[in-house]
Amino acid sequence: MHLLLVEDDERLGRVLKRLLEEDRHVVDLATDGETGLDLAAGDGIDVVILDVGLPDISGIEVAQRLRRRGTAMAILMLTARDTVGDRVAGLDAGADDYLVKPFAFEELAARLRALSRRAEPGTRRPEPRLVAGPIALDETTRRVTVKGTPVDLSPREFSLLECFLRHPGQTLSRDQLLDQAWPYSVAVTPNAVDAYVHYLRTKLGAAGDRVETVRGVGYRLSDA
Ligand code: CA
Repeated sequence: MHLLLVEDDERLGRVLKRLLEEDRHVVDLATDGETGLDLAAGDGIDVVILDVGLPDISGIEVAQRLRRRGTAMAILMLTARDTVGDRVAGLDAGADDYLVKPFAFEELAARLRALSRRAEPGTRRPEPRLVAGPIALDETTRRVTVKGTPVDLSPREFSLLECFLRHPGQTLSRDQLLDQAWPYSVAVTPNAVDAYVHYLRTKLGAAGDRVETVRGVGYRLSDA
């Protein structure tokens, strides 16, 4: 889909844009409301992901102005506080859905899939299945199997494996893996990556040997 992300938090905006692009979306990024409105006037935007707290005009007002223009694009609000008042204001302003920060990227991805299905009744985007040797990961059902046998992974382990499967054979630094599996946490150290890679390898059994240590750099999923 063609997405417009309106988010003034620079790091969050950058991380979300990259993850969404990895999810095969086209993403325009605006860091204030007026720029968001300008970009939304362009053609072909399917969904606006709209932060409520913006430096100039609020996301609520952006949504109202978009609806006043008569735009049909879906609006997904990102709110900082989970208060009924905020949610109601967002929905009243014309938002189709909302997410409360902090949220897991997987949840945002799922909401976007739901919005895209609503936008085009009866159509469903073909969902990618990521495979490396005996390991298979289905991004729709979030199921992981090794030689067809289901493996139960925690959300972090799942995100790490997803990152490895998207970059087979490529050495990924601990920082890259941190950005992927802990996108909104600032207090996580690279040691956490080592710990979770260890858990992941253990759960994958013999197939876990495919996750190779690249000394002094990070990890790599063997695609051989
Ligand atoms: Ca904000």
